[in-house]
Amino acid sequence: MKKLLMIMVMFMSLSGSTYADNIFNGTFIDAHSQVGPLITNEVVSKQLIKNDVDLTLLSIRGKSKTATQRYISVNKLSKNKVRYLVPTKLKGFTRKKPNDDVVIKNIKYLKKDAIRNNIKYVGFGEIILQHAPHNHKKLKYEGINRDFKSKRISRAINIVLKDNKPVILHLELNDYEKDSKKILSQLVELSKRYPNNNFLLIHMAQAEFSEVEFIIRETKNIHFMTSTADNATQRKIKQGKAQIGWINLFDKNDNLQKKWVNLMNKNPQRFVLTLDNVFDVHWLRGYGNKVYLWRKALASLNKDSAVQIACGNAKNYFQLNIKCLKDRK
Ligand SMILES: [Zn+2]
Repeated sequence: MKKLLMIMVMFMSLSGSTYADNIFNGTFIDAHSQVGPLITNEVVSKQLIKNDVDLTLLSIRGKSKTATQRYISVNKLSKNKVRYLVPTKLKGFTRKKPNDDVVIKNIKYLKKDAIRNNIKYVGFGEIILQHAPHNHKKLKYEGINRDFKSKRISRAINIVLKDNKPVILHLELNDYEKDSKKILSQLVELSKRYPNNNFLLIHMAQAEFSEVEFIIRETKNIHFMTSTADNATQRKIKQGKAQIGWINLFDKNDNLQKKWVNLMNKNPQRFVLTLDNVFDVHWLRGYGNKVYLWRKALASLNKDSAVQIACGNAKNYFQLNIKCLKDRK
């Protein structure tokens, strides 16, 4: 299968016009990825240069003390291909035990540390409200199910709002199905309370198509980040290696499903291209495939919608200094 894909890519890059028609060759921003202890700065930087992504908004996992230094190192080694998202979930933000003050203080510390090191951070990493439990070798985790009434969550959101940055929220509407109605109505409230701020739901929030339509209809400033919503994730679910709630934007042949193509073309400002690499496998084996998958998906949209989803929205919401080109040739 992999070999076939390689041959297809080679064939397409040889026949220039086919490439231009079937693969989006515009500016490509990955609006949220993460680097943690399982991979080195050198390897990540090499991958960033190799995989035809123009800019990556990067958050750091692991130790708080070294987060800014890691970012500085990756930015230097990758020749300025990343922008900093202040980490939000270190010191056990997503675990039950730590005190709210400890985790909130740490976000403020990381922000100050970025400023001290002259990093022009463009935003903050994902704020996790809900997360299913995990029990595999790279992540052992008890799970968490909070909502917008949680003190810890509203304090974290307020830090981001105070900075006038978009708020990235990690919600799991499927894995916590019984709370999805409550979360949806809280989202609409949030949107009304802060009409001038943007909220980005990472991993599509595991929202079903009708729930995405609902949010688009009921709000103006809540948007969707496209990570963890493809066949690769579905294969992991079948193997028992991923939680079951992730949605799939693609059909069996790795084409964006027609209903999503139509929704994206109608509402291009509501979707933000995001890969969310986290572990070593994402940065290594999975990275090139995912970029190819999305460049192909973007080519199935209207040209202007594709440019907006791949670059324009991230540029706008995160105030990035980048040109969004339709075709980089
Ligand atoms: Zn996430």
